[in-house]
Amino acid sequence: MKISMEDPNEDYCAVCLDGGEDVLICCDVCPKVFHLNCHLPTVKTVPKDEWQCLFCTTYESVLEKYPLEEGVEESEPEKGLSLRDFQLTCKFMCELYKVRESLTVRGFYERLFQQYMNQVPVTLTSIRKRLSLDPEAPDKFHSLKDVVWNLRKMLHQATVFYDVRFIIQFVFIILVVGVEGGVICRP
Ligand SMILES: [Zn+2]
Ligand SMILES: [Zn+2]
Repeated sequence: MKISMEDPNEDYCAVCLDGGEDVLICCDVCPKVFHLNCHLPTVKTVPKDEWQCLFCTTYESVLEKYPLEEGVEESEPEKGLSLRDFQLTCKFMCELYKVRESLTVRGFYERLFQQYMNQVPVTLTSIRKRLSLDPEAPDKFHSLKDVVWNLRKMLHQATVFYDVRFIIQFVFIILVVGVEGGVICRP
């Protein structure tokens, strides 16, 4: 067993909570570790230099790195999310993954849901998979409104499994972290 004093990193991916066989990359700033495909946004190759995950990057840093300037592309329904909106949405999703309540909507019940409800489940996992900048990516989000609409659908479906008090609590979490980053209420 690892002793935390020697290895400050966590043993399980912060998103899927699995240790698994696949490579886990460690953040150089916080203790979190991730599978390449689980981090938001996905990481294509194992970083060679110092690397900071988006979980411990602040909204402010994201906004500074992707400023809203004249000439910078905005999200458009035909093109999809702009680079700035994409990064902001990824950060927003990280904030949702951070809260304990998100454990219930990460998608662990996807198969069960499909089997019994005969509907395609919307979960944080399915939303994460649709976040892409690739022009060819099928089913990717085209606007922030689309993302928020899917969160609404996710919560609606979650009422099948969870108490309405849980849903209300999670709605407030979404509002707080969404408004903070300007995902729900554009600055
Ligand atoms: Zn993972
Ligand atoms: Zn980190």
